[in-house]
Amino acid sequence: MNDCIFCKIAAGEIPSKKIFEDDDILAFHDITPQSPVHFLVIPKKHIRNIMELGEGDILLVGRLLNKAQELAVSLGCAEKGARFVINCKADGGQTVDHLHVHVLAGRPLAWPPG
Ligand code: AMP
Ligand code: ZN
Repeated sequence: MNDCIFCKIAAGEIPSKKIFEDDDILAFHDITPQSPVHFLVIPKKHIRNIMELGEGDILLVGRLLNKAQELAVSLGCAEKGARFVINCKADGGQTVDHLHVHVLAGRPLAWPPG
């Protein structure tokens, strides 16, 4: 049984505050927002992390980033900008093992990360 929380969100088994959905991609607000705008863009296909992407995923990843950009613009982030983040595995701070792009915006964000 697939107990991946983001697969369950993609299947509608766990509720989310959806921003966008099509056959391949879902975007929803992060449940613990770290900035005034904080949403996640995921492929509906279960890909564990960016290390596991294959050549067959190139188009999907392009669409994922394009959708992240498009939604950031539609949520008013074009002028001041945003941060697009993909955490990967333990050292990258990944806590949900289903590929996702974080989009954070709405306040100045510090760098470097902790
Ligand atoms: P990461 O640490 O990069 O794996 O990010 C996982 C993100 O998923 C965190 O920012 C969590 O707040 C978020 N998250 C976990 N569960 C949910 C959920 N049910 N709905 C929305 N966001 C979630
Ligand atoms: Zn999954």
